[in-house]
Amino acid sequence: MTKTAAVIGGGVAGTAAAIALQSAGFDPVVYERHERGVADERGAFLTVAVNGLNALRSLGLDPAKVLARGFPTATMGLYGAAGRLLVELPLGGPDADGTVTTTIRRSDLYAALRAEAEARGVPVVYGAALTGAVTGPDAVEAEFADGRRVRADLLVGADGLRSRTRKALDPGASEPHYLGLLNAGGFTAGPVDGPPAGVMRMSFGRRAFFGWATAPDGSVWWFANPPSKRPVDPASFTAESWKAHLIELFAGEPAAAIVRASDEVVGPWNTEDLGPVRIWHDDRIVLIGDAAHAMAPTSGQGASQALEDAVVLGHSLRQNPEIKTGLLAYEGSRRPRVEKVAAYGRRGNSGKVAGPVGAAIRDAMMPVVFRLLMRKGNPQAWILDHRLPPLRPA
Ligand SMILES: Cc1cc2nc3c(=O)[nH]c(=O)nc-3n(C[C@H](O)[C@H](O)[C@H](O)COP(=O)(O)OP(=O)(O)OC[C@H]3O[C@@H](n4cnc5c(N)ncnc54)[C@H](O)[C@@H]3O)c2cc1C
Repeated sequence: MTKTAAVIGGGVAGTAAAIALQSAGFDPVVYERHERGVADERGAFLTVAVNGLNALRSLGLDPAKVLARGFPTATMGLYGAAGRLLVELPLGGPDADGTVTTTIRRSDLYAALRAEAEARGVPVVYGAALTGAVTGPDAVEAEFADGRRVRADLLVGADGLRSRTRKALDPGASEPHYLGLLNAGGFTAGPVDGPPAGVMRMSFGRRAFFGWATAPDGSVWWFANPPSKRPVDPASFTAESWKAHLIELFAGEPAAAIVRASDEVVGPWNTEDLGPVRIWHDDRIVLIGDAAHAMAPTSGQGASQALEDAVVLGHSLRQNPEIKTGLLAYEGSRRPRVEKVAAYGRRGNSGKVAGPVGAAIRDAMMPVVFRLLMRKGNPQAWILDHRLPPLRPA
């Protein structure tokens, strides 16, 4: 008999999990709190690494189609506070089909994944915000803000950093932790001088970290990480005051001209991650993606790890017909890897909040350390080269 699954959250993890669950014999329905067409613009754009592209393939999706609105960023060039190139690092690929790590607007990635899920017959219910869930002997019962109740054999909590599912599983679960940095992003109105195609340039800058890449139309996509001891209330800035603040912050650096030339400037957001989440599942509820392991954006891996989660959840439930055993297998397989990737992201974040002395040491040491590390190959190979078996062919 087909089992039912309620998937909470129509972001990266939820849509991918729904597709994976079909392969494991489930009938999934995705419940998304936003209305159709309303996208969370946090981060403006994100980079899906080659391990994430491989996870898409394992789900039977074509990465070139899902990421069609993105562009390749196969290399990162990292510059010091004084503008000196510190490190040039391959970000992964090309894979056998020629794809490399790809940068895409968050809203385009969500839309493409939802379209793929819907094309496979997965209903996506919009305007449905989970408020609670309780596991019973025969089913899990979910409750939503509009009063609707849903019963299912399995509930997948893919509801992101501030997951309600996580709270339902463990009221004392970890809370997001502020990392001392704000986040902003934007897009120039038209072509401007930017890095060569395929390169994501990043600079520690004199006062704040800045990353930028040139899109195929010549416009520049950028993000910035102004340090701030305390989190801010995003509502205390207007779009104009935030843009003016960034232009002043980057005065005298190439970033200022890029921000000035931008007609879309988004943020600020407070940069957060999540300490280890003790409880990932009970007998019928399971957490995936940011709900289980939100990591610092510095890792560049949150979306790719969410996609890997979905594939492994599919395999675990396919190989273990009893849901409870499948969820145990999923956690056993995923927890060690995601915790290692999250720790890696946290270390990268601390380099962005260094004071003047720390920055001088960082800029002097980083080229030496990376040169030594690169002798043994790409130090990120353990993240990027991770490959998962297919759940179904593309
Ligand atoms: C500034 C920034 C930059 C980033 N850059 C990168 C990057 O370059 N590369 C990378 O791989 N990752 C990046 N990340 C991380 C990445 O965005 C996340 O790891 C990824 O989106 C996780 O996917 P998810 O589906 O778990 O969560 P989300 O993408 O956050 O999706 C959660 C979904 O659940 C919905 N939801 C929430 N609560 C409820 C509820 N109660 N009921 C129903 N639905 C609900 C939300 O509306 C949303 O649609 C970045 C993150 C930030 C903040």
